[in-house]
Amino acid sequence: RILSLDAAQPFDYETHIKSQHQKSNSLKIALIGFGNFGQFLSKTFLTHHHTLLAHSRTDHSSLASSLGIRFYPDPNDLFEQHPDVVLLSTSILSTQQVLLSLPLQRLKRNTLFVDVLSVKEFPRNLLINNLPHEFDILCTHPMFGPESGKESWAGLPFVYDKVRILDEDDRVSRCEKFLDIFRNEGCRMVEMSCSEHDKYAAGSQFVTHTMGRVLERFGLESSPINTKGYERLLDLVENTRGDSFDLYYGLFMYNRNALEQLERLDLAFEEVKKELFGQLHRVYRKQLFGDTEEEKYFGQKLLGNGAP
Ligand code: NAP
Repeated sequence: RILSLDAAQPFDYETHIKSQHQKSNSLKIALIGFGNFGQFLSKTFLTHHHTLLAHSRTDHSSLASSLGIRFYPDPNDLFEQHPDVVLLSTSILSTQQVLLSLPLQRLKRNTLFVDVLSVKEFPRNLLINNLPHEFDILCTHPMFGPESGKESWAGLPFVYDKVRILDEDDRVSRCEKFLDIFRNEGCRMVEMSCSEHDKYAAGSQFVTHTMGRVLERFGLESSPINTKGYERLLDLVENTRGDSFDLYYGLFMYNRNALEQLERLDLAFEEVKKELFGQLHRVYRKQLFGDTEEEKYFGQKLLGNGAP
């Protein structure tokens, strides 16, 4: 007769079942690029009981081992561990060079490649063109970073495109297990094509980064009378300050929609300035010449423009 559920049981059944469940859901994930964002992601991945292995250009072995992650300076050794998932978290600018240098022949034929680059069409094409046909491809963009996601990932957007997941139960379930990390953290899961992502992201993310950088150069400072709007601007600078220039430059160079957005931003700034100076000019002329002169001046202007 059991008097208390956990008391003096020779075998903790619940814990056993739980650990079996965790093991069956656990993925062996190889992180390529253990920089700012790779480290940030890995901390949460570990709480989901996945096994993490890492490789990067720089030797991050002591940091990795402090987190419980095995670091492999040589990607050959890493790939001989036969990870289920290879996650690319390299800078946008270096991804092509890194991918082409990886010893893909050491991986299992059934491997899932995932990227988390902040642009999507570029890695999509790169992976399709350079990976063996047997590899699955999932392109993702967690639209948050070490600053904006430091408290929680709940409600933050996670964009993904299942570019190539072969129709086999274990492949489909592996992809879902990977997506579950973000789902279970409460991310807002948005499935969309890579090209759609790039269109939206140029108008939102690239503009956000640009404004953050402009305002940082401008030198925003906190004051005792900050308004809510001003606090938001300070937050914007704070959110983008930690990101590398490589990341920002990658958003510009590897998203074909970014240049147009930069030009629109420039134009909008000029228009706002023109509106201000135009108004100032009118007031100033009124003061100089009075109402009659002002009417004559605008009358002439209209006639000059061919107006009736
Ligand atoms: P990043 O400057 O874009 O990338 C840094 C990573 O790229 C480091 O792991 C670095 O290796 C590696 N790297 C840079 N140049 C390299 C080269 N020539 N050869 C080999 N490796 C090189 O900064 P990040 O913030 O960590 O971003 C990583 C990726 O995540 C990027 O693709 C970015 O678009 C994406 N992402 C970032 C955020 C964010 O908020 N930060 C959010 C979503 C997505 P070492 O450190 O070992 O030298």
